[in-house]
Amino acid sequence: MKTSYPSQAPDLGAWGRAGESEGAGSQISFNRKPQLPGPPPNTSTLLHGPAGVPVNAGAGPHFDILEIGDPDYVALIEADTAFWVLAPRDQALDMLSGPELPRTYLEKQDRLAADLHNVRFGLLPSAVYFNPTERCNLDCGYCYLPREARRGGADMTPARLLEALGLLADYFESTLPEGARPQLVFHGSEPLLVKDAVFQGIEKFAGRFRFGVQTNTLLLDRETRDFLVSHGAGIGISLDGPTPEVADRTRRTWADGGVFDQVVKVLEELAGYPGLNVITTVTRANVAALPELVEFLHRRGVENALLNPVRGTQLGGRDLMPDQGELAYYFFRALDRAYELYRETGRKLVIGNFANLLLGLAAPGARRLMCDISPCGGGRCFFAVGAQGEVAPCSEFLGLPEFHGGNLFTRPLKDLVKTAAFEQVTTRVAEAIEPCRRCAVRHFCGAPCPAEVYAMNGRLDAPAALCDFYAGQARYAFRVIAQGRLDDYLWDGWREGLEEIWVM
Ligand code: SF4
Ligand code: SF4
Repeated sequence: MKTSYPSQAPDLGAWGRAGESEGAGSQISFNRKPQLPGPPPNTSTLLHGPAGVPVNAGAGPHFDILEIGDPDYVALIEADTAFWVLAPRDQALDMLSGPELPRTYLEKQDRLAADLHNVRFGLLPSAVYFNPTERCNLDCGYCYLPREARRGGADMTPARLLEALGLLADYFESTLPEGARPQLVFHGSEPLLVKDAVFQGIEKFAGRFRFGVQTNTLLLDRETRDFLVSHGAGIGISLDGPTPEVADRTRRTWADGGVFDQVVKVLEELAGYPGLNVITTVTRANVAALPELVEFLHRRGVENALLNPVRGTQLGGRDLMPDQGELAYYFFRALDRAYELYRETGRKLVIGNFANLLLGLAAPGARRLMCDISPCGGGRCFFAVGAQGEVAPCSEFLGLPEFHGGNLFTRPLKDLVKTAAFEQVTTRVAEAIEPCRRCAVRHFCGAPCPAEVYAMNGRLDAPAALCDFYAGQARYAFRVIAQGRLDDYLWDGWREGLEEIWVM
């Protein structure tokens, strides 16, 4: 008897689509008229399931059936280990009651559990989001930093910034393998408000970090752009819509002006730069424009974009949260559009946050972003540093002082990342949250975001505010795989070199 489960990630790991490699139909053999084993001599009152263990009962493996909205397939999922297989609809019940599925699963269970455990608990911080100033020249309604700080908060001096980068570089060198170059992303507020300090940091530490800058573009003049490009820095640009009417609804200057024209000018100047990434915060103000935004970005040669649903960590973000049904509808239409455009032109616009979920399914160890797994990456794969040296698990927590581990100028980083403040976040697991603990897609969703969940519920052990959307996104991802379109939604060469962590 043969099974169709390929051997190891990233070649779909222990996961796969029944029947995909040898013509139509499942390769799994079914007992259409199950032959129940005769009762063993001393346990005549026990009726054992297939593979000698009770499936979906007792201590045996438990499979959920997930409706994925595909005409031909459903997903069968063992949620504890994130094992899944796509089963032809008319064979799913036979697969569940036959011997092959549990037998195949049990053969791989230990390795799957170990791999997942490693991704969830075995990684070291290898990136830092560094806020060199609290100030911003924009007043976006959904920012994760409190308004007072953005208006007149602290800046880091060049000397202080260099000192901080030195401490960070020493910390990473003491924890990461020799030769590893951690990622340092200058993040906002608006980091280019302290451009001199940022430039000095990039110049002095060029060999010790891979740098990125997340900017609203207002200060990204030619000289700045040339500097960043010549140093190979990643450049993340924030843009919330395909027209000024949409984009300027949420991203406005303090004087209430829009910035769309400036962002598009910079976007066009940077077209083709491999380090360019566009970040869109999805709110109720722009959600209906997502498909059009995908067309807009694709037309301008953008290859990477994130369509991140707004976080409700601060009140402004909460007020702008989209309706989940609406979000799902337009987000999936935007994904459809990106796929169609690729098919029409041969040019991809990868929607990074969705691609990351696909990676989570196809090659769990290859995820780049870390919001769709629990514990999330905050505090365990990366952390954030504020303009006064405060260290938090993620930028989302910078406005929540109860989650600060301490200050990197006064306490060693190796201790900061192990404080109780950090551990609250790095030990938050979906299986301890109701209803996530019984959710089939909990390891493809991660119940994000702990900062938002805490701000909205006063506790960490609550599900995602956008739970229905995330469940729907997992279904969409399974459909993509069922329809053989996995590669079309992922970066070219995604199977190679998979360790980078991206700008959020
Ligand atoms: S937030 Fe919702 S979709 Fe995500 S793991 Fe929890 S129950 Fe599942
Ligand atoms: S889920 Fe929230 S806290 Fe965790 S990495 Fe994502 S944004 Fe940060």
